[in-house]
Amino acid sequence: MLNIALFGPPGAGKGTQSEFLIKKYNLFYISTGDLLRKEMKENTDLGKEAKNVIAAGGLVSDEIIVQIIEKTITDHPDSNGFLFDGFPRTYIQAYILEGLMIKLNTSLNCLINLDVPEKVSIDRLLNRGKTSGRSDDNEKVIRNRLSEYNEKTLPVLQFFKEREIYREVKGNQSIEKVQKDIQIIIQEELSKRLLNIVLFGYPGSGRGSQGKALAEKYNLEYVATGPMLDQEIKKNSPIGLKIKDLYDSGQLVPDEIVVQLIEKKLENSRNIKGFIFKGFPRTLVQSYILDGLLKKHGTAKSQIIEIEVPTLELINRLDARSKTDRCMPYDTSTSKIVKRLQEHETKTVPVIAKYNQIHGVIKINGEGSFDEVFEKLSYEVENGFRNMR
Ligand code: AMP
Repeated sequence: MLNIALFGPPGAGKGTQSEFLIKKYNLFYISTGDLLRKEMKENTDLGKEAKNVIAAGGLVSDEIIVQIIEKTITDHPDSNGFLFDGFPRTYIQAYILEGLMIKLNTSLNCLINLDVPEKVSIDRLLNRGKTSGRSDDNEKVIRNRLSEYNEKTLPVLQFFKEREIYREVKGNQSIEKVQKDIQIIIQEELSKRLLNIVLFGYPGSGRGSQGKALAEKYNLEYVATGPMLDQEIKKNSPIGLKIKDLYDSGQLVPDEIVVQLIEKKLENSRNIKGFIFKGFPRTLVQSYILDGLLKKHGTAKSQIIEIEVPTLELINRLDARSKTDRCMPYDTSTSKIVKRLQEHETKTVPVIAKYNQIHGVIKINGEGSFDEVFEKLSYEVENGFRNMR
């Protein structure tokens, strides 16, 4: 999701710039002013309550704002992102916005402040008042609106400066120049965003070879915990020695170790377009860990894909692999193969079911040649990139 808040005094040009931004980036527009005017037009209880405050140029209570905004946001969880105009307007509303973003498992990418001198605001609003039909676009109310802005709204900027998502554009320029400056900021934001794919499938479904090939084609970092553990053993690192002891005694590698390795990988990856996770998360606990790790790096899951292959075909493939030099230590006997399939069934299938409920899992038929499956996967990944724009 791309979530942006346009900030600035009345008359800064937020509405004008919003029209262009929602089209260009396919965002869902939320103007609290428009929502309130709609309530007033329909003469709802909320509208009646807000009417006098708006007419006097004051700020409507945070309680009313929560009511009108919460429903609008939670009714559109699948939107490409939100563009907020006129919200948050108070320090309390800044917290409300954070809470709403958390509820949707997303965050505000940036708050863009359209900075204009007070004199320019007043002239623009008086000019707009000639045609807008808004009762609050007259000099007395405008002055009140600006004093409310200075007193209650300006302090909100500090909140976003502290979170390092504050950006500023000179609003006293031509509409086109302001548009261009905003676009530069958003492009920068978009280039920071990562496409993070979780690739599921039973052992033998081809997720490893497909995952590696996808990573190469789309410049994604391939994060496969199995090979990462093996690499540590080969390097003889302190963690590698610990892992080897665990393997030798037939124990599972604890999450603490796996997390350290993934974290290192996330930190050291540069100039990539995203991550593709294979073999992680394997358990419900690990699914929470993944969310936490991604959140810590300012990102989140984008796509969950499962490659589906019928069980008999899986056994055939794993058995065939065991007779080649690609044989893994865990495919050397039928009982080991069956045990891995069972592990997936009992521990990982519930993770896929959970993801399916929350985010939806893209199912890909994994039968057929490598290239046929790769083509289907590539189509989905490209879709994922398109949805990010
Ligand atoms: P606007 O269309 O954004 O200029 O808003 C017009 C009027 O609606 C403002 O002067 C306020 O009285 C009220 N209003 C709009 N958004 C908010 C908000 N987030 N918090 C409180 N009052 C608001």
